[in-house]
Amino acid sequence: MDPGLRRDDDGEASRPSIRHLGAGRGPVSLIIPMTQKILQPGEIGEHQPFPNVVLPNDPELFANRARRFKHLSDGHAMSQLLDVLGKLAHAQHLAYGARPPSMIPAEALAQSREHGMPALSYQSERLPDWQHDLEHIRATLKSGDEPVLKEAAEKLDAFDEAGRESIADAIFGGGIAGDDEHTHAMVAPLVGAALQVSWTRQAASMNANDIGLIGSSTVCPVCASRPIASVIEVAPDQSNLRYLHCSLCSTQWHMVRVTCTACESTKSVTYLSLNGAEEDEPSRKISFARAEACDDCHTYLKIFSREKEPMMEVGADDLATLTLDMLTDEAGYLRSGPNLLFSPGVPESE
Ligand SMILES: [Zn+2]
Ligand SMILES: [Zn+2]
Repeated sequence: MDPGLRRDDDGEASRPSIRHLGAGRGPVSLIIPMTQKILQPGEIGEHQPFPNVVLPNDPELFANRARRFKHLSDGHAMSQLLDVLGKLAHAQHLAYGARPPSMIPAEALAQSREHGMPALSYQSERLPDWQHDLEHIRATLKSGDEPVLKEAAEKLDAFDEAGRESIADAIFGGGIAGDDEHTHAMVAPLVGAALQVSWTRQAASMNANDIGLIGSSTVCPVCASRPIASVIEVAPDQSNLRYLHCSLCSTQWHMVRVTCTACESTKSVTYLSLNGAEEDEPSRKISFARAEACDDCHTYLKIFSREKEPMMEVGADDLATLTLDMLTDEAGYLRSGPNLLFSPGVPESE
């Protein structure tokens, strides 16, 4: 292999042409292999069936996220932020176990099965249930010992139920609630955390056969939200499979690889990763994350390799790889899916 070139993780690239970006930022730069083999639907999964949709059945999901944040924060350039988010994830775990799921209307399940309409669509009228989860998270953080989260919980005290709904509206709409950006940046991750808890609990109460075929793979088949990122899962005896991870309800769904997760184009997908030597351990930790970028719609979403980092957890590893987001943004691509625990204005504790 030529010096400076790296074989693509897919194992399908022939001789990728490489662009280096991020020059002048020290050791960090981006590699873009330009050539990918395109897989067609049906090419994979020939050897054995694989699930199209994986519901969030792990009751330890948020506890695992909290542990992963804690692990990642050790020695990380953004250790304080990751530590804070780990404590927020732990509060999610406590709220998650505090109450049972509500009944999903039979009509919504029937429409999902028969017409592929997401049963828990975030665009439908929101049930007030999630406010119980927010209240649980707020109380946990207010009595906790993390000053940034304590302050955020206190700021949330100023919002009544209608005010909290308007923060949720702003999160789903991509805006801010009210005209105080700083306050919004403080409280939005708490509201996002509660929405995740509530939707994940409901999604976990469904059965796989409640979910019909939805026309598009770009949004969650359960709640119609955009994914946080995708993960290439190790699948013995066949091409490894790519699953998208819902940013709201934690459901995973399959999508053919080398396809834009925003516009489904297969023509202009390129992969950007932080440059580094393949052999040494630190580079393993960066090379498991790449940005799958599309030159048709100019967006990107991160894609992680389970093979390279078996302990990875999408929600936490996404926020531990913000350098990749920054460089991909500088390269002219807009991120296409949110992470509800993160608002760029959230201050790091000192
Ligand atoms: Zn979802
Ligand atoms: Zn695209």
